[in-house]
Amino acid sequence: MGRKVLVLNQDYSAFSICSVPKAFLLVYLDKAELVAESEQFMLRTVSAEFPMPTVIRLHRYISLPYKGVMLTRQNIFKRDGHHCQYCGTTEDLTLDHVLPKSRGGKTSWDNLTTACKRCNSRKGDYTPDEANLKLRQKPFKPTFLVFLREFSGSLEQSWMPFLTKKEKAFK
Ligand SMILES: [Zn+2]
Repeated sequence: MGRKVLVLNQDYSAFSICSVPKAFLLVYLDKAELVAESEQFMLRTVSAEFPMPTVIRLHRYISLPYKGVMLTRQNIFKRDGHHCQYCGTTEDLTLDHVLPKSRGGKTSWDNLTTACKRCNSRKGDYTPDEANLKLRQKPFKPTFLVFLREFSGSLEQSWMPFLTKKEKAFK
């Protein structure tokens, strides 16, 4: 099943999400504790029933050098909803440097956008303005929280107190 578990760091900040079996294993191995469990579902084996975790907390603090979302091609596509940010198509997608690299544009969240190959080649070494292309959405750096909310599909109600409480930490 595709259910996900919110993993909290030892200080109760949101750390990541994982699958139910992985969460169960972490608790079983005493690496994490159960913080919240599903009210609707149980994990059943032949001989026993276990609460199904929805939120777990790690026993040991794991320090993260970077709490944001990794800058990858797939994550940029996700942020942009898998649409070319110039014409809106969902086909033949690639990444576009809004301010072209050749003109000092950085490889960063706020200068990379999803573009189809057609728009990308039409744009060439121009800025969107110069190429007469309009960006549907200004590229931005998603926070971990935004990413969870927008892209992980269904969010468990039981995650909310932990996410809102620590929201400031991700800014
Ligand atoms: Zn396009």
